[in-house]
Amino acid sequence: MSADLRDAEPRPVWWEGADTGPRSEPPAGRHNADLVVIGAGYTGLWAAIEALTDDPSLDVVVLEQDWVGSAASGRNGGFVSESLTHGIAHGEAMWPDEVDELMHLGRQNVSQIVEFVERHGIDADLRMVGKTTLARTTHQADALRAAVHTHTRRGEKVEFLDRAAVRADIDSPAFVAGLRSYSGGLVDPMALVQGLRRVAESMGARIFEQTRATGLHASPGGLTVATDRAQLRCARVLLASNAFPPLLRRLKAWVLPVYDYVLATAPLSGEQLARVGWSQNQGLTDAGNEFHYFRRTRDDRILWGGYDAVYHFGNRVASELELRHASHRLLAQHFRQTFPQLHDVPFTHRWGGVIDTTSRFTPIFGTAHQGRVAYAVGFTGLGVASTRFGARVALDLLAGRRTERTRLKAVTGMAVPFPPEPLRWPAVALTRAALAREDETGRRGTLLRVLDRFGVGFNS
Ligand SMILES: Cc1cc2nc3c(=O)[nH]c(=O)nc-3n(C[C@H](O)[C@H](O)[C@H](O)COP(=O)(O)OP(=O)(O)OC[C@H]3O[C@@H](n4cnc5c(N)ncnc54)[C@H](O)[C@@H]3O)c2cc1C
Repeated sequence: MSADLRDAEPRPVWWEGADTGPRSEPPAGRHNADLVVIGAGYTGLWAAIEALTDDPSLDVVVLEQDWVGSAASGRNGGFVSESLTHGIAHGEAMWPDEVDELMHLGRQNVSQIVEFVERHGIDADLRMVGKTTLARTTHQADALRAAVHTHTRRGEKVEFLDRAAVRADIDSPAFVAGLRSYSGGLVDPMALVQGLRRVAESMGARIFEQTRATGLHASPGGLTVATDRAQLRCARVLLASNAFPPLLRRLKAWVLPVYDYVLATAPLSGEQLARVGWSQNQGLTDAGNEFHYFRRTRDDRILWGGYDAVYHFGNRVASELELRHASHRLLAQHFRQTFPQLHDVPFTHRWGGVIDTTSRFTPIFGTAHQGRVAYAVGFTGLGVASTRFGARVALDLLAGRRTERTRLKAVTGMAVPFPPEPLRWPAVALTRAALAREDETGRRGTLLRVLDRFGVGFNS
């Protein structure tokens, strides 16, 4: 362990002062429900809330193998993005004829989240402060300048910042330009997931923690979900299990679990903050393929995450993978290089979490068991807000409703599957190496150009 990280607690900074751990008992015996949701992160909780909003008489059960918010939803960066397409440029490349509609639905989704959080008094430090994307090289600066047009022609307010302007805002020798965007914002992710839990329960959802769904099969008149000690008979099942081994085996081909790592510092004093500037308190990310994301917390710590996106052979998901010294050490080094003036600010927390990546960077949706099971998985590092949209899509599919959402090609189309092992791991390693080379040289190599043609890539 490097000296810089020796005192860093191995858990998300968001869990400080939060009520963590399970609060409900696993069920035993036989139970009935109308809808069983598998997974209690944002997707599962929004699904329960939206289902009960549509029909308050429904009996909704949510099964969570660990505890509510223990996975990505309680440990992410808290960037709230309006995008349902992993950025405008990607949306234009993938779904040129429906990108405006997707942007409209993405904006509507976030404004409905803001309204919901206010209405239910969820104290999640939700701030619509936008973000600045930062260039570290001249080719990234050129790309940001070119992106101004892409954003403005789609009605997004953005501003290009040259070196002087960006340093006047965020003082770091690393940044040569920036793109200030005024859409989206920041939230305390753990407070959000806990607020959603409170509302879901107040509407009547029954949440069972430490309850892993181990099997799913058709039974007379519906479905049965098995857990270690219980059988739940129900009419419908919604899979919101993110990057974890899926109950529908086919999903393994489309969803790749990727580990992302994060550090947080001690709270900065006013004098320490003044050394950086950052008076707009917006979210910040690098422009590169291998990017850091960073932001201030409610108590003025700096959360600093990203860069490494680590895939483990065979789609491995395990709690011991949430800590990785090499990735944390690299993050610490990069932080010190980016903000040398904060040499006296210690790191207090280090953690990681698993992201459900698809080859098109956006979730996949579909049904199984004659439409009685629906899934929404594959949010690829941008699910804080889009999981609500995803939950609504999955509910539409379960109800057999044709809506503005289910008509979208971004919903009906499928991502290109990842190759199976033993090809999957080297394919990811090769693609990551090509992405790193592009960051260095500014040139998109042959492999990436070929993948672009098929709408395939690797992202976190
Ligand atoms: C480190 C990190 C940083 C991120 N930063 C951002 C960000 O700044 N902005 C952004 O938009 N997105 C970010 N993301 C992504 C975002 O957190 C996710 O897209 C989002 O939380 C996904 O929500 P979910 O409910 O689908 O998944 P999860 O929160 O992972 O919830 C799925 C739940 O299902 C449970 N489960 C799985 N299988 C079973 C089973 N068989 N039985 C019972 N329960 C089961 C799991 O235990 C888990 O709790 C980040 C992710 C990580 C890991």
